[in-house]
Amino acid sequence: MKVIDLKEDVELLDVLRKHFPHPNLRKYQADLANNVYRALANGEKNIIVEAPTGLGKTAAIYAGVMAFATENDLKVLWLTRTGSQVSHISREVSALPIFGRRMVCIHETVSKVDLRRFNATCRAVRRAGRCPYWPGLPRALKPPLTAKEVKEAGRRFGVCPYECLIASLYSTRIVVATHMQLNTIGWLLSKWRARREKTLLVLDEGHQVVKNALSMVRDSISIRAVEKASKEALKYGFRELGEHLRKAVEEYRGILLSDGEVEVEDLLPDADELTMVGEDIQDAKIKEGYVPTSYVLSLADFKISLKGAKPILVKEGRSLRLEAPTDPVDSLKSVYDGWYATVTISATISGELTESLTGKEVTLLRAGWPFQENLTAYIVQGLTTKFEKRDETLINDMAWVVDLAVKCGLKSLMFFPSFELLERVLSRTSIKEVVAESPGLDQEEVERLMTEFVEDSKKALLAVYNGRLAEGVDLSANLVICFGIPFAPPTGKRQALIKRLSEVLGDEKRARIYGEILPGLWAALQAAGRAIRGPEDSADVYLIDDRYRPLARFLPR
Ligand code: SF4
Repeated sequence: MKVIDLKEDVELLDVLRKHFPHPNLRKYQADLANNVYRALANGEKNIIVEAPTGLGKTAAIYAGVMAFATENDLKVLWLTRTGSQVSHISREVSALPIFGRRMVCIHETVSKVDLRRFNATCRAVRRAGRCPYWPGLPRALKPPLTAKEVKEAGRRFGVCPYECLIASLYSTRIVVATHMQLNTIGWLLSKWRARREKTLLVLDEGHQVVKNALSMVRDSISIRAVEKASKEALKYGFRELGEHLRKAVEEYRGILLSDGEVEVEDLLPDADELTMVGEDIQDAKIKEGYVPTSYVLSLADFKISLKGAKPILVKEGRSLRLEAPTDPVDSLKSVYDGWYATVTISATISGELTESLTGKEVTLLRAGWPFQENLTAYIVQGLTTKFEKRDETLINDMAWVVDLAVKCGLKSLMFFPSFELLERVLSRTSIKEVVAESPGLDQEEVERLMTEFVEDSKKALLAVYNGRLAEGVDLSANLVICFGIPFAPPTGKRQALIKRLSEVLGDEKRARIYGEILPGLWAALQAAGRAIRGPEDSADVYLIDDRYRPLARFLPR
């Protein structure tokens, strides 16, 4: 792996000036832009940018990538984690955003259908001529655009907003979308008239892509959804299929009596049969004047994702679900293979791991910390959230810390390894002036919590690692408390991952570092990183757990 340590203050290359979207440069930005451009010009195919949040990576990388893409007539596909990040990047660099169909749907009822069943429902209403906005006469839109603006344009023209986005693809060099687009990448590239080998892929929040691959889950479906599919089939006269599913649900519910996961037999019907029945149900619903949603079709999608493998049954509290497993190496290769070049961006990603998993040589561009003394991290010992140590003393100690932090009057973020711990600690604190995340919040509720926290200068926010408030959101604060380290539990799937990584990396010790230790530490660091979004922010971070000290060598400089 080639490693380049970036310099704080250098001149931006002349050729990049017209592509840099801001009048002023922050520390490291010019050297980052220059090195991205130089690496591409040198024929380096896989670049990883390791730089802290708030450095201004988007503008710098955009300048380097766009200068090279323009000179070489390449397209640029920029993928990030969430729809709001897509809007943000579109605004910053004037790129065309491709939001998912559901995010910009303006059909009165179809727009309310859940994500899992949305695409099939939209397809059915289009087929039946029941969407007043489709096909219409889509018009190209001019970036930058937010999802709200795209919807407004669709309403103004009386046409599906998503089709307007697709109509805008033709003449654009750069497109920004979410990582979800990777699931249908071939479709997007053909609509864009682009080819992988003539396109630069920028993977923003790249740790998320690696994390997804290491999760070894291609798709999942709840047993409740399978039960609903059974009831739906029975209601619409597909007695045999309905009974088949009812028995499968009964059997799956009897397997795991406590939290855990286990490989189970595939008791689901054939994907073709599920698809045929699901489509008949959709037709029947349309005739009855209902929205043509179908749980049976969602199950057909899941069955296709299984690709003949046995599913994994997972129980977590009240949630019982089936997962379709996938190989982490195959997953990452399918993301990285075939592009002209890739640029992966993240504050927490391992070049060595990416190189080993993808089998591709990496150039690592590393920036230092640009904010001088703005962030100080302390490791605090004396308690641990290790599962077997979660007793009443621990809960009381954590509640004492929360009370103390709130009494300090500093704007505080506090992160917990699970909702269960968060709720137990919250119920033990004496102060109620806090905003707390709860399980299953939708986007609107997440935004409401964020606004409540941002608008009150003294509020504390309690959230969980890996949750909606721990990554990809701006939550400036002066104090961050990270309780515990969110290591994944030692399940069968985790053992399978360690075995697979041992094969790829050559030894089990390194496999444990990349498969167990670093994902936990990265999740804590991502959460802590919410506090510093730019040079004007400053924060103290307390990493509270006995297990941080021996792992200090893995923490960033
Ligand atoms: S075609 Fe109609 S239902 Fe489908 S996304 Fe567009 S507006 Fe929504």
